[in-house]
Amino acid sequence: MAIEKTLCILKPDAVKSGNMGNIIAHIQKEGFKILGLKMVRLSDRSAGKFYEVHKERPFYSGLVEFMSSGACVPIALEKENGIAEWRRVIGATDPAEAAPGTIRKLYATSKGENAVHGSDSVENGLREISFFFTEGELADLGL
Ligand code: UDP
Ligand code: MG
Repeated sequence: MAIEKTLCILKPDAVKSGNMGNIIAHIQKEGFKILGLKMVRLSDRSAGKFYEVHKERPFYSGLVEFMSSGACVPIALEKENGIAEWRRVIGATDPAEAAPGTIRKLYATSKGENAVHGSDSVENGLREISFFFTEGELADLGL
């Protein structure tokens, strides 16, 4: 299996509820390498652009409003089979359907306010990481 990069975002609900540290500890316990991490406040426009793929969906405007409602923490991650691994660790979109011990089961409050983002393919992972990080912001220390 290949080493893959994926984008995690700690969403505004997770930041507001004080779970940043818990989720970062969870990420490290699961063996992901953290390549980059920052705190940002998305504008409506940039949140809309990030989730553009969903623009025809009924939840799009609520999602954009939520993602721009407070600080977010995008984190670029890397691991063997990283895309599927991160999706396994975060659990189903709706916390009611997420497996026990997953980040969304532990920290999400609803299907919309679900604590974390995860990329859905290698290609989208790279595209989403470059949405938030320049090359110079991604430390690859080779450790
Ligand atoms: N979302 C929502 N209602 C839905 C489906 C999705 O509010 O019925 C939000 C939720 O925050 C989700 C995001 O839109 O994380 C992106 O949806 P997607 O289907 O890509 O879920 P994910 O990949 O995040 O599990
Ligand atoms: Mg998705």
